[in-house]
Amino acid sequence: QAVSPTATQVPRYVRVNTLKTCVDDVIDFFKRQGYSYLGKAVSLEELKALSGKKFLLDLHLPELLVFPSQTDLHDNLLYTSGHIILQDKASCLPAFLLDPAAGSHVIDACAAPGNKTSHLAAILKNKGQIFAFDVDPKRVATTNTLLTRAGVTGCQLAQQDFLTVDPRDPKYSRVTHILVDPSCSGSGNVRLQLLTWSWAGGLQTPGDSSCPAGMVTRVPGEEAPSAERLQALAGFQRRVLSHALSFPALQRLVYSTCSLHQEENEDVVQSVLQDWGSAFRLVTTFPSWSCRGLAVFPGAESCLRASPAETLTHGFFVAVLELCREGAAAPS
Ligand code: SAM
Repeated sequence: QAVSPTATQVPRYVRVNTLKTCVDDVIDFFKRQGYSYLGKAVSLEELKALSGKKFLLDLHLPELLVFPSQTDLHDNLLYTSGHIILQDKASCLPAFLLDPAAGSHVIDACAAPGNKTSHLAAILKNKGQIFAFDVDPKRVATTNTLLTRAGVTGCQLAQQDFLTVDPRDPKYSRVTHILVDPSCSGSGNVRLQLLTWSWAGGLQTPGDSSCPAGMVTRVPGEEAPSAERLQALAGFQRRVLSHALSFPALQRLVYSTCSLHQEENEDVVQSVLQDWGSAFRLVTTFPSWSCRGLAVFPGAESCLRASPAETLTHGFFVAVLELCREGAAAPS
């Protein structure tokens, strides 16, 4: 069985860290390094056709540059100095769509390794307050390094189970925006996805941080998650999402996963929205994004999906929820 050609075509996406630099300066830097800048893309076909030392500005996200998939920038000075973040395009959607105004108070419930936290800080222009949580001590340490390198200030990072964070603590009384990006099966990750199909040999093992985006990687023994594992993950995801909705000043929330499974995506959103009655609603964002949520309940098309074949990204799911009734009461 051959490896799907579409899965190997995910380009190398480069998010410009606007806390440290700007798009024009990064473009100039790469031009000086011998790359040719082709301007702003108008179609995914242009992204697909990229080759050699050429790059584009993304057609959807304003601070995202796109390079051919083989491009390895891990040793590039702009990366090691935190001026650019190597982040898949789909993974840039959650913070972009949460879109908190500068000065807002924001929670990143499952933050490590901190890519979306640093993106949130850039959107906030380091004005306001981010409360970032992660339960895993090692990953919190990595996050700390990433945030420092990215020039993030005004972020309180805590090693804490988000489910134990008290929404009534006065500290969080001004939190209007929450990003929930919980642990998931990771089935949208191209590298993992390919294993479950097949491999031809000569593939890299995971954890190799220099593995370029879109490269086929093999995880020995890794298989599709069992029904029990999916059920356990979905239970956790529902608890985290519901807990986030109980913060009293919450206005807008983004729920995202890098999973392709309906159980972890549309089903979680539907079930939690049902539990909360009419307190929150799904918001239709990004109408120009063609890949939408599976139509498994009315309004599910408001959600976004992403995949190598349709959006030239890793597999991803994003839902944007907004408060529609003040004084929403948590489900009993
Ligand atoms: N948002 C991150 C980013 O963009 O860099 C990726 C988050 S990753 C998908 C999920 C994270 O959730 C993991 O780092 C994991 O340690 C963390 N996590 C799992 N259970 C948690 C909990 N109960 N409270 C807080 N974090 C948790």
